[in-house]
Amino acid sequence: MISKIKEHCGIVGIHNVPDAPRIVYETLKFLQHRGQESAGITFLDKDRLSTVKGLGLVEDALDPIILKSSNFSIGHVRYSTTGRGVIDEAQPLSDGKIALAFNGTIPNYINYNVRIDTEFIYEVLKNQEDIRQGIRKLVDVADGGYSLVVLTNKGELIGLRDPKGFRPLVLGKLGSGYIIASEDSAIRQLGGIVIRDVKPGEMIYIKNGSIESEIVARDEVHFCSFEYIYFSRADSIIDGVSVYRARVRLGEILAENHPAKADIVVPVPESSVPIALGFSRKSGIPLEYGLVRTSVSKRSFIMPSQDKRESIVEEKFGVVGEVVRNKKIILIDDSIVRGTTMKKLVKLIRENGASEIHVRIGSPMIRYPCYMGIDFPNKKELIANDKNEMEIAKSIGADSVEYLSIDEMIKAIGRQDLCHACFSGMYPLKHSYDFSKLSVSMKG
Ligand code: 5GP
Ligand code: MG
Repeated sequence: MISKIKEHCGIVGIHNVPDAPRIVYETLKFLQHRGQESAGITFLDKDRLSTVKGLGLVEDALDPIILKSSNFSIGHVRYSTTGRGVIDEAQPLSDGKIALAFNGTIPNYINYNVRIDTEFIYEVLKNQEDIRQGIRKLVDVADGGYSLVVLTNKGELIGLRDPKGFRPLVLGKLGSGYIIASEDSAIRQLGGIVIRDVKPGEMIYIKNGSIESEIVARDEVHFCSFEYIYFSRADSIIDGVSVYRARVRLGEILAENHPAKADIVVPVPESSVPIALGFSRKSGIPLEYGLVRTSVSKRSFIMPSQDKRESIVEEKFGVVGEVVRNKKIILIDDSIVRGTTMKKLVKLIRENGASEIHVRIGSPMIRYPCYMGIDFPNKKELIANDKNEMEIAKSIGADSVEYLSIDEMIKAIGRQDLCHACFSGMYPLKHSYDFSKLSVSMKG
């Protein structure tokens, strides 16, 4: 059995709103960018929780016809690192009495007799008379990054953000009841009212329409910088910081400190558009959409083999020949992970007649795996693991490559309390982990 050790996902829970499962279904579509591998919904049906799940995008995975009417529901969209046998590990995980949907990674699950971290959470919660007691225990034993929603067959809805606050989670008002979701943009898009971010270490407990808040544990906050750089929607605001503004600032600082002589700035759509906008405005070099995104929805990143990843990149992008021909280009992306995307794009743009290509990246070099919920591969696969900027330029065929430094990134986002483990190797966890060991236990 192959288990996933990494979940970067979207979650939602709804309490006391008519047609909650249908609303959860809509919300999952608004959170689709956070996970495209599977989708699932649990809802309260009389005094039992029912769960439906499927593989792929929300609209392929779930048939809204089979959702019953209910006022209580949670849902999940999922990403993980391998592409096989995922349906039994799709979420929500439920035994009919409690259901949980989870975004993050809890790497110390390997010390327990469970296959994956989701099961670890379930094992801690399942035999507790009072679900709040289970949550307190979970926070006590879990080491990692996690945001979580739990629904019980008594109609209780719980939202929890880990004490270091690695992943986002937001509380809102929706009609007669409440909603808890990964991003505020999804709540607003539904017509709900955003109340506030769930605080790091905070448990929100909603029963019979009334809300209790409890800080279960306090710790130093380390919010995931990659949520701002790439992962969250640009129209989200996380802990008071606009994702869009952060991305524009990444681009501005990139232009200030890592300039290049060029005719046009070209973003790799979609995630790097605000970064390229910031770069263009600051440098005065015009922004041009030299790359278009086709409607191929599969993300190259999650394809299981390198061959497949490469062919998907080719399907995903088209080049506007007349924009790039005979031009010196600054090509902007939010990040380079394995280098697959950049290598292909540089080649495609050159084939279309560009004279120079200077790659500028709106994040620092990704050199370490993540154990807190982003699915970066092990060190050996990361292109920046053993290469400097010049060597990377050579390897992807660009005239130059420059990244932001960690300090520049922190300045751009404007938060001091960011996790930068994937860039720095400094893991703000209680214990240290070895990706290769986790991989071994994955296969066990
Ligand atoms: P690479 O092709 O270098 O392996 O990955 C870099 C590309 O993947 C960039 O265009 C970036 O926007 C995107 N990317 C970065 N991190 C992630 C991730 O966690 N998931 C997915 N699907 N894409 C990512
Ligand atoms: Mg991208």
